[in-house]
Amino acid sequence: MSIHRLDFSSLVIEWTQDGELIKMSFKGDIDETFKGESIEIPAAPKYLINAHSLNNFNSCGIREWTLFINSLHKKGAISFEKCSVNFIDQVNMVPESLGEGNILSFYAPYYCASHGEIDILLEKRHIEEIKSRHEAPQIACEKCKQALEFDALEESFFLFLRTDEEDLSHAS
Ligand SMILES: [Zn+2]
Repeated sequence: MSIHRLDFSSLVIEWTQDGELIKMSFKGDIDETFKGESIEIPAAPKYLINAHSLNNFNSCGIREWTLFINSLHKKGAISFEKCSVNFIDQVNMVPESLGEGNILSFYAPYYCASHGEIDILLEKRHIEEIKSRHEAPQIACEKCKQALEFDALEESFFLFLRTDEEDLSHAS
């Protein structure tokens, strides 16, 4: 399986095709050097974007990013995995950053009294828990087994997981 690579000044995109699935990974910043429409990716039924190393977005970058995601969505369904904390912050500020994409897993900021800040990967079971309990899952530090503290505002950080039905039930 060959790895294709696209270089921008502040970003590297790598992608591979495996049957119906195109896997893409983004490393770096989305800024004015990112040209979403110049990216030539073949049509495929499914795209999986690894957003683990997506760092900063600036306002020029986010416009290009949204165009890119929308054009990709016209070709196939998009899922995101291992989304960085920066990407989740971006999605919470500008929900269009996700297009119609689905987040499978993401990093959340936690804090250990002994080991400091640590980003924890939250997966499907955690996402279900957040949706039903509306609070950050309890996670133990891998090094010292102490309970980690969630290191952001739960309401703001998990905003992107709110469903429309919940918004309706809050309104009534
Ligand atoms: Zn610790």
